[in-house]
Amino acid sequence: MNSREYIIVGGGLQGGLIALALRHFRPQARVAVVERGPRPGGNHTWCFHANDVPVAAQPFVRQLVSAEWPSYRVCFPGFARTVQSRYAAISSDRFAGVLENSGCELLTNTDVVALDQHSVKLADGSEISASCVIDARGPTSAEPAIATGYQKFVGLEIETERPWPDTLPTVMDATVPQEDGYRFVYTLPFSAHRVLIEETHFADGPEVNKPLLSQRIVDYADAHNAGRFRVIREEYGVLPMPWAGGGAMVPETGSIPAGYAGGWFHPATGYSLPAAVRLSLAMANVPPQDARAAAKKLAQRLRSRQRFARFLNRLLFTLVKPDQRWQVFRRLYRAVPDATINRFYALDFGPLDAVRMVVGWPPPMALSRLIHRPETTPCPSPSH
Ligand SMILES: Cc1cc2nc3c(=O)[nH]c(=O)nc-3n(C[C@H](O)[C@H](O)[C@H](O)COP(=O)(O)OP(=O)(O)OC[C@H]3O[C@@H](n4cnc5c(N)ncnc54)[C@H](O)[C@@H]3O)c2cc1C
Repeated sequence: MNSREYIIVGGGLQGGLIALALRHFRPQARVAVVERGPRPGGNHTWCFHANDVPVAAQPFVRQLVSAEWPSYRVCFPGFARTVQSRYAAISSDRFAGVLENSGCELLTNTDVVALDQHSVKLADGSEISASCVIDARGPTSAEPAIATGYQKFVGLEIETERPWPDTLPTVMDATVPQEDGYRFVYTLPFSAHRVLIEETHFADGPEVNKPLLSQRIVDYADAHNAGRFRVIREEYGVLPMPWAGGGAMVPETGSIPAGYAGGWFHPATGYSLPAAVRLSLAMANVPPQDARAAAKKLAQRLRSRQRFARFLNRLLFTLVKPDQRWQVFRRLYRAVPDATINRFYALDFGPLDAVRMVVGWPPPMALSRLIHRPETTPCPSPSH
């Protein structure tokens, strides 16, 4: 007889969220999380928009939030906008602390070498079993065998001598010179003197020149008059932005694929938190023997939205010249209302949202009063 109801392989974002959802909704269930690293969570700052977390998931997600802002900005040449949506961050540290105190059985420094529907083989040759085995081992560094563009970034979290000139996050500052695809800078001011600056490119190839991108961040900090600064953390990532492939798939047998590697991500943003939260909710709301069916049903629901996001990637990467891609985003942010943007990020958008995003304008039959003209707000400008 199985001694555990659930084994989750991988204590990253997805594995941790499922474990916390299970603790919340099925507190009697025995849940083991097997993680190869010394602590769960790795080295990340995961961000999300308020809409990404359904109300039912708030009780297990709220405790993870390490920073929060009432809105965020996007900036383009000649146009800037504040999107009225709460934006929040989860630090790996906070995530690890919550998971370590959650009451789950946490097996760290433990490598899984094989897994099946009901059992998991560890690197030391031992085997553990459960009614439900979930594979949340995360993205691999192998190049995807599908048609794809790439979102690649280097981030430096810095402590600055002078206060950072903005208190709100800027999720896209595309006023910087364009190179290697769509280039923008992302800033998350955690406090007046601590900010995460990420140099991001939506590019055709996966190669990352880390020294160059780090230098761009230094230049950006200088241009924003940050004064001398100290780097306290670094992040690096290359995420596929596919326009082929099938999205989240759940097979009839074997372990249940979850997380980024299982296709539970937003193809056009690279964010996986919205899908990870929804999958956690869906699985925790049913007994272990029904978790597969619940995951399948959700995968089905997300499929058309993931397909649309891949379609947008196809347009962006195959039709638009790399140095002109910023115009697509500028047009999008000029034309669509906050609610559409929020639903888009959350993978929770409908057909009207999709039409709005493609034409960058409401459908012709819409009344003119429905046409959204967002208020233009200035971005804090570099000091020199
Ligand atoms: C730098 C970076 C920043 C990102 N920022 C965001 C963001 O702001 N918002 C967002 O929504 N998405 C973000 N993403 C995308 C995505 O959400 C993350 O990649 C997320 O961590 C994926 O979650 P996951 O659980 O699938 O994988 P991971 O979080 O990578 O977790 C997988 C875990 O499995 C463990 N593991 C792997 N193999 C084994 C094994 N054999 N045995 C035991 N354990 C194993 C790993 O050590 C790891 O801890 C970001 C990605 C990167 C790379």
